[in-house]
This record gives sequence, structure tokens and C-alpha cells, in this order.
Amino acid sequence: MTIKSGSNRGTIKTILTLFGTRPEIIKLAPVIWAIERRRDIWRSVTVSSSQHTDLLRPFIREFGISIDHDLAVMTPGQTPNAVLARVIEAIEPLLLTERPDLVLVQGDTTTAIAGALAAFYARIPVAHVEAGLRTGNRYSPFPEEMNRRLITQLADLHFAATSNNVEILIAEGVQKNCIVLTGNPVVDALQHILARSTASPSLSKLLDSITNKRLIVLTTHRRENFGEVMSSHLKALRRFVERHQDIELVFPVHPNPSVRAVVDAEFTGAERVHCIEPLEYADFLHLLSRAWLVVSDSGGVQEEAPSLGKPLLVLRDTTERPEVLDCGIGRLVGHSGERLEEMLETALVDKTWLSIVSTTENPFGKGDAGEKIASAIEQFLTAGEGDIS
Ligand code: UDP
Repeated sequence: MTIKSGSNRGTIKTILTLFGTRPEIIKLAPVIWAIERRRDIWRSVTVSSSQHTDLLRPFIREFGISIDHDLAVMTPGQTPNAVLARVIEAIEPLLLTERPDLVLVQGDTTTAIAGALAAFYARIPVAHVEAGLRTGNRYSPFPEEMNRRLITQLADLHFAATSNNVEILIAEGVQKNCIVLTGNPVVDALQHILARSTASPSLSKLLDSITNKRLIVLTTHRRENFGEVMSSHLKALRRFVERHQDIELVFPVHPNPSVRAVVDAEFTGAERVHCIEPLEYADFLHLLSRAWLVVSDSGGVQEEAPSLGKPLLVLRDTTERPEVLDCGIGRLVGHSGERLEEMLETALVDKTWLSIVSTTENPFGKGDAGEKIASAIEQFLTAGEGDIS
């Protein structure tokens, strides 16, 4: 198998990193740092699609990333098709002027598939961070499962977080020598931020007001859960909190209006339920660190819970991160509120679960993924062609 790196100017190679949402910047920041550490051999170009705007901005500041180009594609009520079309259109001229030797994308967003496709059409090699995640259901999560499958087809280099992800890629016909097992850079990001921050005064005040209580941290905003499913989950949580005086629930609420409508309907006036604005990453990690139990439909939180040794109820009917279930930390709830309520009651009495969780090795790596990804890119770009295994 021969892989050719793109054309380049002289010995300095250009790496263009594209992101647009909160999870992408969290997972690409450690890779961008590793790229920037190699400034003697590489030029780093960072591009934000701004698929998220208000959610993304504080993260860029927290991670100390500077943005070279902002595609500013966000419009109110945008559909995935509109985002896809605008990112492709906006990035094409940049690829011509910046002439990157490699385009780096992460995960499964519309920004990522658009960047990978535009780079492919420009015959620029594509590297994919967090490759090989699959639920097996092309409609769940939607449209992310299809985005990630298509990015696999477009990418030249595949950075897999776990050995299970490597096996999935091989089973789909990806050449072994184009796959590198790196761990997930979310672990690097989390360790970096936690080591350099304390909880903000407003979060500290909230946490101080609920000392000695069992804290549930909730996040939910997946498209598949909008409407009835989210309603039934929130009803179940409200009943559970009402039954148990020593439980407090903190819920940073995603700005999506479809989420806010359900939250208003189900949580207004609920006792010991604290609905707050989305938190910056440091505060969110400090909040998670204090959790007795995490309840979430997020992808990133499924990696952060094991990184912090916290038990997790996954508000999905399927997960692309079976590692979190296999290691005993996470349990899959599905879409039923009744089942969630039963599982919450079980968590109160199941001491074995809590003890397994605090001693389990993190399946998503040790916090060195950014560096591993940068070295694999270095090998690829230095060789100009060939094997990166
Ligand atoms: N997150 C955060 N503040 C919050 C809620 C979540 O920083 O108030 C972080 C969380 O740590 C996780 C990421 O946002 O890493 C998850 O993003 P999201 O749920 O939007 O996407 P997903 O992980 O499902 O792709």
C-alpha cells in the first residue's frame, strides 16, 4: 500500500486543522499543541467553521488556540445539508491559497465530513482523529454515524482511540498500515485543563450549597432524543430526585431550542434540580469530578466519565463506545423513562458498581494521544509515501 503526501513548498509542511463544534475543539486542541511544538518543520493553519458559535468560543480561549480562518457558516435553524454546502464552498478557496500537505478532521460532525470531502476533491491527504467508531445503525446517531463512515472512505490516515476501533476499520477494509492506535485526545485535554484550573466562583458557590449531597450531573441534547424520549427521561429524573432528599441534580442545558422547550416543560419548579447555562470546559470537568452519578447522551462524556472514574448511565439505545460498557463503568439506558428510573434506584443500592468504577483502567488511553498523532503525521509527511505502522 502506498500513500502519497500532498505537494508542498520546500521543507516546511502545512497542516490544516478544521473544527467547528465543542467536541471537535476539545479533541483537536491536544493535537494542535503537538503540531505547534513542531514549528521548526510544520506550519499550523487552524480553521473554524463556527458550526457552533457561542458554545465554541470559550473553548478556543480556554485551550489557547488561535484561529487563522473563520468560515462563519452558522445561521439560525440551519440543516445539516446547509452546513455541509456552506463549509465545502467556504473551504475550497482556502485549500487553494494555503495549499496544505494534510487536512486534519475529527469525529463525525457535518464540518468534519465537509472538510474531508473538500480535501479529497483537492487531492490533499486527509487524517481522521477518532476513527472507527460505529453503532452499526446508520440512523443513530443521526447524521453522525453516516458522517463517520463516509470520512473513513475519504481519509488516508486513521487515528483510532481503542483496539476495538482498529478492528472495525480493518473489518471494513481499511489497510492496517494506515491505522494508528493512539488513545483519545479527550484524555489529554481533560488532564491538561484539570491540572491548570480550579472551579469558578459561581460553580464553587453552587457546589458549596449542595455539600454532603449525592450529585447527579445530567447532559442531554442528542437529536434522536428530542421530544417524547427526552421528556420521559426528564420526568423519570424528576421523580427520582423528589423521592430522595439527599440527591441534587445539576444540568447544564444545551442552548438548542428543542432541548430548552422540554426542560421548561419538565423541570420548571422541580426541587433540588439546578438547570444552569452550559459550562466552560474547566468548570464542566470540576462538576463531573464531584458527581456521584453521571447521566448523559453525549459522546465525549462517555470518555470523560471513565477518565474521572465516575459511573455513567448512557441515555441512548446504542453506543459507538462499547468500551465504556465493557469496562463496567457505563450502563445503557435506552429510550424508556421507566427503565431509567429503575436504573437510578439500582445505582443507589449497587455498591459493587461504584467500587468497580473507581478502580477500572481508562479504556480511552493515558493522555498521550496528541503526541502519538503528531508523530504518525510526521512519519507520513517525512516519508512522503508508504507505511506508517
Ligand atoms: N461539555 C462542556 N460543558 C457543558 C457540557 C458539556 O464543556 O456544559 C463538554 C463535555 O465535557 C464533552 C463535550 O462538551 O466533552 C460534549 O459535547 P457534546 O455533548 O456537544 O458532543 P458529543 O460529545 O456528544 O459529540
